Amino acid sequence: MNYVIVDKETCIACGACGCAAPEIFGYDADGTSRVLLDDNQGTTKIPEDSLDDVIDAFEGCPSESIKMSDHPFNGNPLSNE
Ligand code: SF4
Repeated sequence: MNYVIVDKETCIACGACGCAAPEIFGYDADGTSRVLLDDNQGTTKIPEDSLDDVIDAFEGCPSESIKMSDHPFNGNPLSNE
């Protein structure tokens, strides 16, 4: 899966993803996560050397707010479900 986005509607601002993949996930003022690659649009391919970290974050997110797909999200976390 090459694309990643955070669903900010369900993110509980726990901070786990930024620990797993600090190069990919940052936080907004309210503590919710965002993908740094593309302003959380889910349109930029995950760099190969970050993929394992992103999968760790994806699997560890307690609210299942990290979405991954083979297809771009175009800003909508639910677009590939
Ligand atoms: Fe939000 Fe999930 Fe990241 Fe926690 S791990 S900050 S719930 S996206």
